[in-house]
Amino acid sequence: MEEKKLVLETEEKTEEVVSKNFIEIEIEKDLAEGVYDHVQTRFPPEPNGYLHIGHAKSILLNYGLAKKYGGKFNLRFDDTNPTKERTEFVESILEDVKWLGADFEDRLFFASNYFEQMYECAVKLIKKGKAFVCDLSAEEIREYRGDYNNAGKESPYRNRSVEENLELFENMRKGVYQDGEKVLRAKIDMSSPNINMRDPVIYRVAHMYHHNTKDAWCIYPMYDFAHPIEDAIEHITHSICTLEFEDHRPLYDWVVRECEFVNPPRQIEFAKLYVTNVVTGKRYIKKLVEDGIVDGWDDPRLVSIAALRRRGYTPEALRKFVELVGVSKANSSVDYAMLEYCIREDLKLKKARLMAILDPVKLVIDNYPAGQMEELEIPMNLENPELGSRMVPFGKELYIEREDFMEVRPSKYFRLYVGNEVRLMGAYFVTCTGFEKDENGKVTVVHCTYDPETKGGSSQDGRKVKGTIHWVACETAEQAECRLYENIVDEEKGKLDENNNLNLNPNSLTVLPECYVEPELAKAKVYDSFQFVRNGYFCADCKDHKEGHLVFNRIVSLKSSFKIQK
Ligand code: ATP
Ligand code: MG
Repeated sequence: MEEKKLVLETEEKTEEVVSKNFIEIEIEKDLAEGVYDHVQTRFPPEPNGYLHIGHAKSILLNYGLAKKYGGKFNLRFDDTNPTKERTEFVESILEDVKWLGADFEDRLFFASNYFEQMYECAVKLIKKGKAFVCDLSAEEIREYRGDYNNAGKESPYRNRSVEENLELFENMRKGVYQDGEKVLRAKIDMSSPNINMRDPVIYRVAHMYHHNTKDAWCIYPMYDFAHPIEDAIEHITHSICTLEFEDHRPLYDWVVRECEFVNPPRQIEFAKLYVTNVVTGKRYIKKLVEDGIVDGWDDPRLVSIAALRRRGYTPEALRKFVELVGVSKANSSVDYAMLEYCIREDLKLKKARLMAILDPVKLVIDNYPAGQMEELEIPMNLENPELGSRMVPFGKELYIEREDFMEVRPSKYFRLYVGNEVRLMGAYFVTCTGFEKDENGKVTVVHCTYDPETKGGSSQDGRKVKGTIHWVACETAEQAECRLYENIVDEEKGKLDENNNLNLNPNSLTVLPECYVEPELAKAKVYDSFQFVRNGYFCADCKDHKEGHLVFNRIVSLKSSFKIQK
């Protein structure tokens, strides 16, 4: 965690020092030394899948840095590889970035719009004798490259003349060659200890349709060549990427230098975000979707941004999470519980605390007048009076949670059992008098009597009760479906089995079709979220929730709940 607030106490004053992360230190150094006079960052997703929590970190980091230094933030689709890209992903990424609040204003760019400039850069390199057309096959190029212990071998085509290279490269563009027949390579150093510098391929022939440029091109630039040029064209100052690109940085610097960009960008790497007990790799998520194990890329058990949104996470909670995690140079996994902590903290004061019964059993108040209903005023959130209150109907027959009644009282159990008095939240004290069972021994009705002198939930005579339970009046209850989630992977077995398949948790989804909620919840719109008292935070599902069919996803449970020892 880099962002720590330290309080330094000196004799005269107390001053707060905010320690900076290593990227901020670098940026401030660059600004102080006049390397740059502004800050410009970008988020460069490849539109080949949905964004996940790791991308959220990258987005918020880049956006946050631009904002902090009065700079600008660009969104750029790195769409230089036509094989995997789809318009569907462009749309979902746009939605996710906007939802996170990373405002790119009018700076939405597509790397494919720079193809002409990239081509010109390649021509410039050829003219400088810094690039050549190579006829080796992909296989041969790999062999010639050598490895960590052995220097590479120069291609026999390395010394083609500038004129010949210009002509061949132009022919590549014109479609004279088949895929794989020729490539353009940077001429750097086949004996470099950094394998990325051993005459890397910078253009390949690929007769493919591109989602943006359509059939205009049959040659496409490689990532290591295209990316620095995209950054330079957009006057990016700090090109922030993840650690696996550290070894590519010399090539990044070589490209911007040899292409003679003025005031070129610099690359800074940070560690990827990993979260325990969840699946982030596109490959695994894709398989879960394709195998029908999850309900699409936005299944609430996933941590794609769309899934987090559907589950009920908020941009504020994700921002808080990213801030807590900090920026680091060392790969590590963050505990999923931290994410849960962030959403609880965000919703705690903002959301109404309403009553919903997930596993209902009937409670009949035998001394309450039959046919009578009354309305009780109950605050929305005791910790936040600004949310006001609502009227909750109360009557003779209520639903309560099945686990709030016990035929045989376990120790330390203070809820309903015959002879015990409890508080019905915001209503009355009731004393359990008996119960009924069906032929299978299942409790069907619990009976009690109420004390009319305890309206509002407190007694006149100072009598105390140890248990408070929630309830919903049968007559006005709305039926709802609630969905409860656990980790999609089996925590105990570990994420992967010996064949690299995911160890799935068979209980990752529990659907409770017959829950009862108080009438207030009938007003819920998709994405609205609430605390269901004692049961956790829930969010109206964006796909299936509608008037007449209420569907709530559990975002997260409340932290400490008493569990009966079985
Ligand atoms: P994945 O393979 O997980 O889908 P990717 O790196 O292929 O990720 P890109 O679309 O190429 O996805 O990445 C866009 C940006 O997001 C890059 O700058 C990349 O470094 C960053 N990024 C990707 N994964 C993470 C992560 N787990 N944590 C932080 N940043 C990430
Ligand atoms: Mg990628």
